Amino acid sequence: MNEQKYSKWTVEGDKKTRWICGCFQTADNYFKFCDAHNETLKKAIQAQIDELDMTLVVEEN
Ligand SMILES: [Zn+2]
Repeated sequence: MNEQKYSKWTVEGDKKTRWICGCFQTADNYFKFCDAHNETLKKAIQAQIDELDMTLVVEEN
């Protein structure tokens, strides 16, 4: 009997691939990006946000 639900491994999980810059991918395909690539990817995502067709959630302070 295995009642254990799937829970996503954190960045502390087994690293499957690690790049020299500091980015790595864990065994369950979680990506953690280094500072340089995190910024690059943020820009890439923002550039394609319309294509992604995501809905904005605006939090009010
Ligand atoms: Zn990187």
